[in-house]
Amino acid sequence: MDLHYKKILLLLVLLCQVIGVQAAPRVTLDGQDVSLTDFRMGYYIDHSRSLSHAEIRSLDFVETGNRTTLGTSARVTWFKLTLDNTSGQKQALFVHLPHAYHLQSIGIYEERNGTLAHRAILDMDHANDSDLMYRGTAVYPLDLAAGESATLYLRSHSFSHQWFAVDVLDEKASRRALIGLNTDIALMVGMMLALVFYNGLLYFASSKKENIFYSFYLISGLVWIALSYGLIASAFGAYGSAVFKLNISLISMPIFLTLFMMAIFETARYYRTEHRILQGLLAVLIGFFIWGLFDISAALKPASTLAAVMMLVTYSVSFSLFRKGNPLVKYFLVGHTFFVVFNGIAVLFYKGLIEPSYVSSHGVGIGIMLEALALAFIISYRIKILEDIRASQDELKKQAATDPLTRLYNRRFFFSEADYILELAKKDDTPVSVMVIDIDHFKQVNDTHGHGVGDQVIVGVAQALKRHSRSRDLVARFGGEEFVMLLPETGMEEAKGCAERIRAAVEAARTPTAGGDIHCTISIGIAVIAPRSETMEPALNRADQALYEAKRSGRNRACVNQADNFEDAAAHQPG
Ligand code: GH3
Ligand code: MG
Ligand code: MG
Repeated sequence: MDLHYKKILLLLVLLCQVIGVQAAPRVTLDGQDVSLTDFRMGYYIDHSRSLSHAEIRSLDFVETGNRTTLGTSARVTWFKLTLDNTSGQKQALFVHLPHAYHLQSIGIYEERNGTLAHRAILDMDHANDSDLMYRGTAVYPLDLAAGESATLYLRSHSFSHQWFAVDVLDEKASRRALIGLNTDIALMVGMMLALVFYNGLLYFASSKKENIFYSFYLISGLVWIALSYGLIASAFGAYGSAVFKLNISLISMPIFLTLFMMAIFETARYYRTEHRILQGLLAVLIGFFIWGLFDISAALKPASTLAAVMMLVTYSVSFSLFRKGNPLVKYFLVGHTFFVVFNGIAVLFYKGLIEPSYVSSHGVGIGIMLEALALAFIISYRIKILEDIRASQDELKKQAATDPLTRLYNRRFFFSEADYILELAKKDDTPVSVMVIDIDHFKQVNDTHGHGVGDQVIVGVAQALKRHSRSRDLVARFGGEEFVMLLPETGMEEAKGCAERIRAAVEAARTPTAGGDIHCTISIGIAVIAPRSETMEPALNRADQALYEAKRSGRNRACVNQADNFEDAAAHQPG
């Protein structure tokens, strides 16, 4: 051949390689075991969607890998694959199309020596009637005698994006591939289901709306993951346009995410502007959802624009809440960023702009999963915040109700609680006893030993009151060295017994001081209330009168006020 011609030919070949157009590469089978999961083949995008096998076979194919993604403009794409058996033995092969489940239809045209030897058309709406469909994978058997070649033209008609893969396997490898199908996706979906149940339980425990929205977000996410990664196809043998409708979960997911944001950040209450923006987003999404109910293919066309708007709005709102100091929103931003990054990778993958890999082809699933975990964290963090608020409110309430020196209830709390106790007693018609307790000659203790020792004595008496009362008795410090006790379901005799135990305990107790132990006594006035005919105030006055009587008659004793005749209770005590 002329040197010029050779040069021109070489240049043409180089040019073809640069622009990618060249004869589709051949795949050689030279070993005993066949498991071809990484090889080169050719593709041709049929924009007219109407070319036949006879028309396509003379056209130029572009080289690509056996796993490829070509975006939404390549809805009908032909793949060309030539197999040469140089292994010296007959090969029983199985051509796997593992992403068949998400297609509308597949045409398989097998050529031997340049003529069509066999043809199989797989309509996914009726794929269950076909021997070629196994779970989500189309499996095409192909025998190649030693030295024989075959060319396959595969016509892939997708619902939306062209996302295609071919493997060539022998019987053993084929069986292994079909058994191991989707275990990772099943695990992911299982985890999300567990989160759904857990949040359902949380909702029943707390009736917080965010748990319900989160559950529905998870359900939408797991339906979409199960659908697009073939779990629904392989678990239920469901393909084609019937299950394609389930892509509506791609719209319900952001709806529930928006509702979740509104609930967890309480936008309606604290962030009016952001609330209105989210409401606007919600209205748009619901519009798309309704459209999707009628025509999911059409409604999903602007999906990436919608997703971009969604992310813009959620990000802006989150930043705004962050600037306003919301403590939860930073975790939302982290989770949402994971979601956006992995979805971004997936979008590039679906558009055919980056190479297929586990992460790029599972980007949406990984993004949903990571965001789901971040949202779960936000829910638990919010429970913690609410618990902290409740705990500090409880602490404040307690501080307002108790006396700091003795930790007994104060006068104010005594009266509010006493009303409640009397109300209950009125219903049951049970007696309630009230006791007023005062330390004897307490001024002397202060004068002799100082206020510090006086305080110690007060605390000692308070402890004796606590120790010798029941948990349902109300024990309060009324001020100074004066205490009041209210004893529900307690009549005269019981009250006297209680008073005597306390009196004896205080008398026996010792308070250590620098100058040696000191001891004090107390006087007690008792009145028994008939709750149907008396209120707290007059009963306290009667108890005070009894106390005065106890003081007057010598102190260190308990006296009872029985309406108007005083009785010295201590006199009844033996010894
Ligand atoms: P009586 O036997 O008649 O009750 O004699 P008393 O000296 O105890 O008389 P009274 O009950 O009127 O005394 C009250 C004294 O208690 C007056 C005040 O100095 C003292 N006091 C009041 N509150 C406190 C307190 O919080 N700590 C101390 N250390 N002393 C207090
Ligand atoms: Mg006193
Ligand atoms: Mg007093």
